[in-house]
Amino acid sequence: MIRTTGLSKSFHNHEVLRSIDFQVDKTEIVVLLGPSGSGKSTLLRCLNGLEELSGGSLTVNGVDVDSAMSHREKNARFREIRRQTGMVFQQFNLYPHKTALENVIESLLIVKRMPKADAVAAGERLLKRVGLAEKRDAYPSRLSGGQQQRVAIARALAMEPAVMLFDEPTSALDPELVGEVLDVMRELAGEGMTMVVVTHEMKFARQVANRVVFMDGGVIVEQGEPASFFQSPQTERARRFLNQIT
Ligand code: ATP
Ligand code: MG
Repeated sequence: MIRTTGLSKSFHNHEVLRSIDFQVDKTEIVVLLGPSGSGKSTLLRCLNGLEELSGGSLTVNGVDVDSAMSHREKNARFREIRRQTGMVFQQFNLYPHKTALENVIESLLIVKRMPKADAVAAGERLLKRVGLAEKRDAYPSRLSGGQQQRVAIARALAMEPAVMLFDEPTSALDPELVGEVLDVMRELAGEGMTMVVVTHEMKFARQVANRVVFMDGGVIVEQGEPASFFQSPQTERARRFLNQIT
């Protein structure tokens, strides 16, 4: 579903991703772990073209991008990839002047040009799926952080993505609101969604991930099944990381 080959990313002279070979199979749930600055967000952003690639190539759901392609070609392909990829950020980024429903159906109206009545029906189904049917007409300022993030997930799901990318979706939430967002993500995982999740929620990683990928210094240092990774990390760097966070 996702494959990167020799993926590199530099900001000025600072190489932030160093020849990353990363792969995610269909319906796989991969949790990306690593210290601050290790390149987790940059990797996610490269996958859907929010960052320009410095080197290497990637494939997302059958769409290939090579850093050597022309800008025009790359842009066209990333446009395609973005249609097939849902992204959820730490900050929910909802439109403040749109209701929950309006936020969810925006892409259906604008990108898919769906008739309003169909979009509303789809939007209501999506809000129901994240447990917010009754908040359809609420503005973001009237929603808790957990509710806003669930609207953001519903919005990302509206385009029926093949892959969902989550970048610390619960890090901005009060602790008591984390669970409701993780529950929605668990459900999605159970429905067979392909997901890449950057998170510090180790319990979620243990319970839901098929694989944990540990990054440090712009490289994948180690990866494996959660049970073995958490119990017996193979590298000193991973051991140190796990000791610090637990
Ligand atoms: P965190 O856990 O803090 O979110 P991360 O693993 O997501 O960290 P990234 O945000 O991917 O790390 O950053 C990796 C490196 O790239 C860091 O050294 C960061 O300073 C640098 N970096 C990220 N974005 C930019 C940018 N737009 N311009 C310059 N440097 C950047
Ligand atoms: Mg980050």
